[in-house]
Amino acid sequence: MLSIRNIFKLVQKGIGHVKGNNLHLSNTLLCQQRTLSHAAPGSPASLYFFTEEEKMMKETVSRLAEEKISPLVKKMEQDSKFDSSVVDALFKNGLMGIDVETEYGGSGLSFFASVLAVEEVAKVDPSLSIFVHIQNTLVNALISKIGTLEQKKKYLPLLTQSVAGSFCLSESYSGTDAFSLKTVAKKEGNEYIINGSKMWISNSDIAEVFIVMANANPSAGYKGITCFIVERNSPGLNIGKKEDKLGLRASGTCMIQFDNVRVPENNILGELGKGYKYAAGFLNGSRIGIGAQMVGIAQGCFDATIPYTLERKQFGKKIFSFQAMQHQIARVATEIECARLLVYNAARLLEAGQPFIKQASMAKYYASEVAATTTAKCIDWMGGVGFTKDFPQEKFYRDCKVGTIYEGTSNIQLNTIAKYIEQDYTV
Ligand SMILES: Cc1cc2nc3c(=O)[nH]c(=O)nc-3n(C[C@H](O)[C@H](O)[C@H](O)COP(=O)(O)OP(=O)(O)OC[C@H]3O[C@@H](n4cnc5c(N)ncnc54)[C@H](O)[C@@H]3O)c2cc1C
Repeated sequence: MLSIRNIFKLVQKGIGHVKGNNLHLSNTLLCQQRTLSHAAPGSPASLYFFTEEEKMMKETVSRLAEEKISPLVKKMEQDSKFDSSVVDALFKNGLMGIDVETEYGGSGLSFFASVLAVEEVAKVDPSLSIFVHIQNTLVNALISKIGTLEQKKKYLPLLTQSVAGSFCLSESYSGTDAFSLKTVAKKEGNEYIINGSKMWISNSDIAEVFIVMANANPSAGYKGITCFIVERNSPGLNIGKKEDKLGLRASGTCMIQFDNVRVPENNILGELGKGYKYAAGFLNGSRIGIGAQMVGIAQGCFDATIPYTLERKQFGKKIFSFQAMQHQIARVATEIECARLLVYNAARLLEAGQPFIKQASMAKYYASEVAATTTAKCIDWMGGVGFTKDFPQEKFYRDCKVGTIYEGTSNIQLNTIAKYIEQDYTV
């Protein structure tokens, strides 16, 4: 299989695009589509128009998910951990550094490409998709955008090629009220000594690099919060046992204890006291990735269900043929489409440097609702077998629940949306 990096090189040279398992010579498909369409020259394209790189990336990830991930999903769920061959495949295929510059080992693609990757992986395994999402949209993004040259040179080649990272903000007493965090960082010489604990940290069971928010000046309140890069082998850093969760069971979520963890001053990411700005700012964008994860879950569950409704017969007819079924199916398909368009639109706005925060909150809020209703409906449409572990619907149903909780609960997304509505209507 061609890796994303290799495909990207071919596309950059204008040589090809991927179809099925083959690389095809290309005359820029986009131009052909434009020629055939009725669009006025220069008119904005549909949200379903992808660049050649995005299209190839989507196809490659979809194939990787089908060939390498799908056969191991059940085992990873049962073992409550990722299979190392799958993690290796994600790194080898460039999925762990999608929008990181190629000079640091990344694939040099766009934010939108990472959104597509998260969606495709989530169609097959939501646990792995949160791994891909956090690595790309939070860990790599923070280091790429606010890291020093030394930090980029040291950490990005590791994070894009072989090493997992975690984003550590939440604590047992500070979840939604994230910036009331209690973890402190005290300066001593040219080091900071971190004390405290973090909770709910995704991928911390396997991560080697931790982006940690700690308060370096508690008297300044949230304006003391600073972002540190902490390495796993730091003395005093202890990873707790994995939470026994409803869903995303293959993704390790642990507590982390910091007991006098010494971090060199050079490992401050960005500016001292700006951690709250970075966390809030980057979470605004990464929410779009959670929306993509939820769209992927909804679509994956739908795709696994409709063929059954076309085969299963009751009263001598396919269950799909009953109008009561068709109307439900059509409604859910429409909702998935809406959620996907919200996600793609927010991603395109972010990439274009346009205001996107309201749209990102809408995308995350709505997509997590749609994933919940879709997966519940799919179980209904499967009847009794949908309630068993022999079919994937019940796992999608459990996996999507967290979409209304992490990276800002649904209440908080609604607060954000309302804040922007108020602004829009206040003269
Ligand atoms: C599987 C999983 C993975 C996670 N991964 C990470 C990670 O990698 N890194 C990380 O830092 N964190 C992570 N989190 C933490 C996650 O972001 C928090 O759980 C989330 O922010 C909610 O915080 P909380 O659990 O403390 O709930 P609380 O803040 O206690 O909220 C409980 C309820 O109160 C409501 N509420 C609270 N405040 C308000 C308000 N002002 N207005 C209206 N309603 C309100 C909430 O909407 C919610 O319904 C993860 C969580 C889970 C479950």
